[in-house]
Amino acid sequence: MPELPEVEVTRRGLLQDLPGCLVKKITWSNKSLREPIPRKLLVRYIEGNRIKTIDRRAKFLLFRMVNNSTMVIHLGMTGKISLLSVGEPRARHDHLRLFLDKEKELRLNDSRRFGSIAVWPPAESIQLEKNFSRNIGVEPLSNDFHPDNLMAQVRRRTQPVKTFLMDSRRVAGIGNIYANEILFDAMIHPLTPVNRIPRQAWEKIILSAKKILQEAINSGGSTISDFLGTSGNPGYFQVKFKVYGQGGEKCRKCSKNIYKTVIGGRSTFFCSHCQTMK
Ligand SMILES: [Zn+2]
Repeated sequence: MPELPEVEVTRRGLLQDLPGCLVKKITWSNKSLREPIPRKLLVRYIEGNRIKTIDRRAKFLLFRMVNNSTMVIHLGMTGKISLLSVGEPRARHDHLRLFLDKEKELRLNDSRRFGSIAVWPPAESIQLEKNFSRNIGVEPLSNDFHPDNLMAQVRRRTQPVKTFLMDSRRVAGIGNIYANEILFDAMIHPLTPVNRIPRQAWEKIILSAKKILQEAINSGGSTISDFLGTSGNPGYFQVKFKVYGQGGEKCRKCSKNIYKTVIGGRSTFFCSHCQTMK
């Protein structure tokens, strides 16, 4: 599943070519994604308009148009956006195609169809974005990802820190892979109840999260799912995983065994020697 780094890598790839492009025509498959494709809104507000820029909020890509409408795409489990030259034949699981000027085509492929497409019309864009953002937690690469902010949220909560980091209403865009890696780097046991984590340990978690997400972005995202960068080059971050998928292997810090367990229904990898309860 694409996590924050993969979506950010996609955004940066698209930013090199898309701003200024005119959307000449849009076509779609006759299948629904997580929700039906908003065909009428796409034709009314996106077709015939130019792309201004692309932003990211959590794992959503916001295609901001010159007419102040916004097309919002979530990649779900298997979604992939590619920027192709015009003339590439339609492939299986292509669900949205934006034919652009400059002989380019923007294409969304999604085999499992858990992704989503929404359109915010110009007049409602600001309010709809506020409503949308209200339900999403703090961006881990922003300055708001701060011990004050996190500690205020966890005062009366006892859930494991790993579950907290993966809760998109608390922290945006961190999924299972990076939650495992962040807690190993911060040397904190994934089952530690959040209300028992001291400030110093939150500082460590924040530093580790920023470091690991940034490293992943710099190396082009992860290929653990079928993610590909927009240029078609696979990311390489997966070769650097220290605990994810390493159950039974030796810990790189202490050489003891890495354990695999399940927390909140998700595979969890940790070193019980290096990662302590605070
Ligand atoms: Zn260890």
